[in-house]
Amino acid sequence: APLTEADVASLDWEKMDGLLPALVQDRRTGQVLMLGYMNSEALAGTLGTGLATFYSRSKERLWQKGETSGNRLKVHGVFADCDDDSLLVLADPEGPTCHLGTQSCFGAEPTGPGWLSELSDIISERAALGDASSYTRKLLDEGPERIGKKIGEEGVEVALAGVGRDAKGCVEEVADLLYHVAVLMEARGFSWDDVVALLRARHAKASKDRTATS
Ligand code: AMP
Ligand code: ZN
Ligand code: ZN
Ligand code: ZN
Repeated sequence: APLTEADVASLDWEKMDGLLPALVQDRRTGQVLMLGYMNSEALAGTLGTGLATFYSRSKERLWQKGETSGNRLKVHGVFADCDDDSLLVLADPEGPTCHLGTQSCFGAEPTGPGWLSELSDIISERAALGDASSYTRKLLDEGPERIGKKIGEEGVEVALAGVGRDAKGCVEEVADLLYHVAVLMEARGFSWDDVVALLRARHAKASKDRTATS
């Protein structure tokens, strides 16, 4: 469970000389963004303000990430590891997290389905373009009906590939489908987060019902 301010004192500060490493991960994509250090004051500040705050060993003071750049980290939750000597911060970054201007200090791109959120960001950027030079922008201009027609076609292609094509062929068709679904999400104003939240809620309910009846 995420830490609350009441948990701060029970972490193993003594073993770590008062400073716990805090790894920051993008809540949506799972991308690892940066590593900082927190003393108990920084952790309490993080939990109190909802903005990631570290202890800077070079500045020898508390440092709220983004205090000068504006690239703050909105904290979704802070988790302690199994023996309470390190922290994981799930956050929504408000801009590039690294002071060199990249999203991640480590240069590692998000992998796995979390990247679909990046795809949605790219689609939002295309939506904001001044001209209709991109295929995405054109689809959005044509509206939900046109996008829905594409989804219907790609859905049929997925179904046919599932029967008649090899796994690589299926991957291509599912990619087409998910892209067009992501465009519809942009057009209708919802996100992968909303879809995942619903799937998780359904799963939680299904597991609860299963335990209740067994
Ligand atoms: P900021 O907190 O983004 O306003 O940046 C202020 C200063 O903090 C920068 O000039 C760096 O010295 C340092 N800094 C910012 N982001 C990071 C980071 N991700 N990792 C380490 N130091 C950082
Ligand atoms: Zn540990
Ligand atoms: Zn960096
Ligand atoms: Zn297709």
